[in-house]
Amino acid sequence: MDSSQVLELITESMNAQEPRSGGVHVSSICAACLRKSWYGYRLGEFNDITGIRTLWFGRAMHASLNLKGFLKEQERKWENIVGTIDFFNPDQKIIVDFKTHGDITRQLPMPSHVQQVECYSLLNEKCGFGNIEQGFIAYFSKQSPYDVRICKAPLRPMENVEKQMVNIAGLITSDKIPPRQMGWLCKYCPFSMRCFGNTPDKLEMK
Ligand code: SF4
Repeated sequence: MDSSQVLELITESMNAQEPRSGGVHVSSICAACLRKSWYGYRLGEFNDITGIRTLWFGRAMHASLNLKGFLKEQERKWENIVGTIDFFNPDQKIIVDFKTHGDITRQLPMPSHVQQVECYSLLNEKCGFGNIEQGFIAYFSKQSPYDVRICKAPLRPMENVEKQMVNIAGLITSDKIPPRQMGWLCKYCPFSMRCFGNTPDKLEMK
């Protein structure tokens, strides 16, 4: 075995994932490009090496941390929408979501991350675990995991969140491909060849 084969084994292990529950995931609903989520729903999610490392870092962080009074990795499914709450305090009805970020000095929280916490709050309520009182996002620096910044997530009324969440989930599961939302994500998007190529817009479900 040579060093490149060892690296390959490590990469393979970093990329190993537990099978996810079926349905539209909250992370897809809150993604920067719905077209990417639309592809991911049909073809499955996969990552380049940068994505694999980010995912692994996030997973390692989740696995090693526990918050007193909080339940970890709580899956909630309502209708065809599914999400996993990183940390949930059932007594105080608090959610804490963990994120890694390249620059935690930037303006945070990111709107898409707040939207995720809102969706988790709604799913929590719909599944009978009560209304969320407070939501927080803990940003861990990718450069130095000891640097953490905690941001409060302002939560909108749940009726508004439900309307938006159901509407977006409908767009992701619809036969019609959503328009491109070009931006920074395109550079890392595993579907870019398909998105900008001549592949027919209509895809059969797996
Ligand atoms: S390449 Fe860009 S526009 Fe196309 S699906 Fe990916 S993120 Fe969206």
